Amino acid sequence: MEFWQKRLRESVTTVAQLSRHFALDVDALDRVSARYPLAIPPHYLSLIEHPGDPIWRQCVPDLHELEDGVTDADPLHEERLAAAPQVVYRYPDRALLLVAGSCAAYCRFCTRKRRVGCAEARVTLGEVMEGIKYIARTPAIRDVVISGGEPLLMSDLLLKEVLERLGRIPHVEILRIGTRAPVVLPERITESLCSLLRRFHPLFINTHFNHPRELTPESREACLRLADAGIPVGNQTVLLRGVNDDAKTLDSLFRGLLQMRVRPYYLHHMDLVRGTDHFRTPLETGIEIMDRLRGTLSGLAIPQYVVDLPGGRGKIPITPQYVEKLGAQAVLRGPDGERISFPNLIDLPG
Ligand SMILES: *Cc1c(COP(=O)(O)O)cnc(C)c1O
Repeated sequence: MEFWQKRLRESVTTVAQLSRHFALDVDALDRVSARYPLAIPPHYLSLIEHPGDPIWRQCVPDLHELEDGVTDADPLHEERLAAAPQVVYRYPDRALLLVAGSCAAYCRFCTRKRRVGCAEARVTLGEVMEGIKYIARTPAIRDVVISGGEPLLMSDLLLKEVLERLGRIPHVEILRIGTRAPVVLPERITESLCSLLRRFHPLFINTHFNHPRELTPESREACLRLADAGIPVGNQTVLLRGVNDDAKTLDSLFRGLLQMRVRPYYLHHMDLVRGTDHFRTPLETGIEIMDRLRGTLSGLAIPQYVVDLPGGRGKIPITPQYVEKLGAQAVLRGPDGERISFPNLIDLPG
């Protein structure tokens, strides 16, 4: 057994285990974890400083999860849009391949909390191979996002098998892996994993840091190791109420990520997923934060703020309004709010 697998086995996976570390209402939270499972690997558990802090909120079950609001179990219609086993195909050129049904840590705000970690979400190797065959006979798919669950819970051997099969498909131009391992189980990012991954370029990784307290020396090592293997590492953050919904926190997160050679890619507005109302912010909050960051933060550190539209219509960027008026004399707004008239060449000469 590899060291990371041993560490993974040391994860907290029941409320009773968690109650050895913190005072908890075990019976009440058991009701939550019966519906939405719990897993916290040792590294991530060690980041909790006190109940209710930004790390706690992301991984400890909360009674609010049982309150259903206006939301849907599958707002992105991933199940209706499943093109083949384990394939979510909703843009012409890109598809998700869901290779795992479980994670190292269960994020309480997960988009796929309806199924990830539950018995019926278990993914068989046969289903993944079916999914790969579908991609192989669909020439429009140029970009495959390997996701889950946590794809890096696969052994190196299985991962190699999946990557080799995808790598042999002529029309698949790039591969991406979406993983939270660098954040919650940094031990997973071994030298041998990196030497495996580097054989499959162009390969991109998007990871998932949500709070500056997650930028630990261990996670930094993990990200640097991936970057040293020539892998461009991006980050997808979810805007979470009570965790990171203010400009100061995100400023420090995004700057810290650049220092770990990780490029902020998306800031996701919360999906309308059942059991996550307590994390939701208004769109106004996201827009205001983006407006604050622009002008005070390196452009390299600024992600796109996106909303994944319900019904599987796709992601769209939401931006603060910098254009007040178009036409020959356009009026633009500067980062400090100043209105600036901007001569706009609308009648092109010649
Ligand atoms: C987010 C997503 C992608 C990738 O989208 P990009 O904007 O290219 O990162 C692809 N397929 C599905 C179903 C997605 O949800």
